[in-house]
Amino acid sequence: MRQGSFQWMKSMNKSLILNKIRTQGPISRAQIARETNLTRPTVSSNVKELIDQNIVEESDIGQSQGGRKPTMLIINDGAFCILGVDAGPDSVKCVVTDLSGKVSERSEARLPLPVDSEKFLDALKSCIQECLLKTAGKDVIGIGVAMHGVVDIETGVLLFAPNLGLTDIPVKEELENTFGLEVKVENDARAMALGEFWFGEHGELESMLAVNIGRGVGAGLIIGGKLYHGSSDIAGEIGHMTIDLHGQVCECGNRGCLQTFAAGPAISRKIFEKTTESLTAEQVFERALDGDASCHEVLTEAGRAMGVGLTNLIHIVNPEKIILGGGVSKAHQFLLPAIRETIATASLTRSASQTKVEMTKLGDDATLIGAVTLLLVDVFELT
Ligand SMILES: [Zn+2]
Repeated sequence: MRQGSFQWMKSMNKSLILNKIRTQGPISRAQIARETNLTRPTVSSNVKELIDQNIVEESDIGQSQGGRKPTMLIINDGAFCILGVDAGPDSVKCVVTDLSGKVSERSEARLPLPVDSEKFLDALKSCIQECLLKTAGKDVIGIGVAMHGVVDIETGVLLFAPNLGLTDIPVKEELENTFGLEVKVENDARAMALGEFWFGEHGELESMLAVNIGRGVGAGLIIGGKLYHGSSDIAGEIGHMTIDLHGQVCECGNRGCLQTFAAGPAISRKIFEKTTESLTAEQVFERALDGDASCHEVLTEAGRAMGVGLTNLIHIVNPEKIILGGGVSKAHQFLLPAIRETIATASLTRSASQTKVEMTKLGDDATLIGAVTLLLVDVFELT
């Protein structure tokens, strides 16, 4: 037996029990024992440790099954808090949540553009500081940062943020030194995918793709219940999937990337080409709602391009479900029919053509909740 295995087994049992309580609570000790195949004494001693750590509490909620009512266990959601940060291309947002992802405090700051590394980190720190002051002596587990751009998740270094023109910023190190808390950094679309997987009410899923359509197009892929990063942290950069070899030049230097068809700036450009009017993607959406045919057409075209990109992804990873989030996805009533129709006609098999495509239920907070989930994974997941 390798050294430390016993300790590992113990913590694995604890983790198993903790997750039963998280996903099925209120739940009794007896039910946990039945469903995990652990012995009653093992469950009891682990639950005692979890209660001593204040992460689990006894509750009188629950159903009586006749006879003596068992003591039910729930997660003590309010005992700890987590900070989640969404550092986007124009602003920084921060929230404080409990262990169930419920938001209690918020702060937001616009980034001074153009921004350099120092100003960016200053904005990040002051936004976090504002929220941290409101946690009023509660135990803060850590800070999760969802970043626009390519992130090295091991070192927490922001490698490249194209819309900010920034490279190689040691976000994790800087924030850990400033606040003395554990910091996790992840790409924003991937964080969104994780938050969606945990809190999006999707039931039991093995695989899921979450796509963020905003100033760019990014995605996070969940396989086997975990975020998939790829061998060098580039998995999910679907905004730069080539849709047209001879298309518009993208910010990455290639031609005809998916985001040159479907991201916010692309929608502005397309309507300008059609009508010579300068409109933001949001204005295009509003006009489409008012019945403007050109705006409707531009959004439908964006949906078709997304449909082509998503069909490619279905053929590569075959996810059970695809979730859409981000600013542009608010125009879902125009985008979704075109996306679904394209997938239905272009997929190779019937089951692939029926891949569910839905909107996020987490709304504008999807990325922030995802940032918080980066820490929750550490607390709850089997390692
Ligand atoms: Zn590109």
